[in-house]
Amino acid sequence: MRRILLIGTGGTIASRQTDDGLAPSLSISELLEKVPEIADLCVPECLQLFNMDSTNIRPEHWLEIARTIRENYSRYDGFVITHGTDTMAYTAAGLSYLIQDSPKPIVITGAQISVAQGDSDARRNMIDAFLCASDENSHGVLIVFSGSVILGTRARKNYTKRFAAFASANYPEVARIQSGHVFWFVTQEPEGDVVFSDSLCPNVGLIKLFPGITEDVITFMTDHYDGLVVECFGVGGLPEYYEFYSHIRRSAEKGTLIVMTTQVPNDGSDLTLYKVGHKLTQEPNVLEARDMTSEAALAKLMWILGRTRDVKEAKRLFYTPVAHDMIMHQ
Ligand code: ASP
Repeated sequence: MRRILLIGTGGTIASRQTDDGLAPSLSISELLEKVPEIADLCVPECLQLFNMDSTNIRPEHWLEIARTIRENYSRYDGFVITHGTDTMAYTAAGLSYLIQDSPKPIVITGAQISVAQGDSDARRNMIDAFLCASDENSHGVLIVFSGSVILGTRARKNYTKRFAAFASANYPEVARIQSGHVFWFVTQEPEGDVVFSDSLCPNVGLIKLFPGITEDVITFMTDHYDGLVVECFGVGGLPEYYEFYSHIRRSAEKGTLIVMTTQVPNDGSDLTLYKVGHKLTQEPNVLEARDMTSEAALAKLMWILGRTRDVKEAKRLFYTPVAHDMIMHQ
């Protein structure tokens, strides 16, 4: 049987009720004890990395998870990470850049209701995650949740409460898990050997445009961050009622990279379509997320700026697909 390392990071799945609301407190071994069926699927071992609400998870924690997997990579056949759902899509994206081309599966899961409660989805998600991590077709970073298997670069939390919380954005779910079987829709063989990175630039921001947004908001963001993801309206563009373009140019002189994307959940951006966006395609420091998720765009920018400050090289890296994060890259 496969040896799988279960890494606990917290989240609702490991929470108990306190006077101030739910807080993670169950250890990863206590969590595993609640799902004894896992021992029929593989040989699991536990490692408690942290026990926190994922609201508190930052890029430095992605680095720590990646480092833990690197240190244990040769000793296990796969990895399952339990994590809060609120920032799970960001962590999945971050790990997809920090750990590339992994032939071994790195499966992230969690729950909408704590394993300590009777009506929880935790046990099912845990069993599904281990089924997926034990499956010979599983590679790379995946989220397993409510029967869906989603690429780490494509996940988005779509519901705050219902069990089927995650969707795959602009890319199909790669598999479904039903009645103890993993049914693959999209299979990929990893190319080459696993590649780990150990640096990120956390100084990257994400901002959503809103009607009436003033220039000081954009100025603040471009002045304070080395990279910025801007969620525009629709297919993309910047309002014309302030000097947004001169700020973009000023930030280019400072070397800030700006990724334009959309706040619409599906279909991605297309800056060429409208005059409000077209001008941006001429700006040297402006990139476009196209069909990428905002979570992936943010994490990719952190990964790129952790490697280079050369704008040309950064652009090349951004438009080079990683783990199927971008289809429209030409
Ligand atoms: N606040 C929790 C977290 O993200 C929510 C969850 O796990 O579902 O840690």
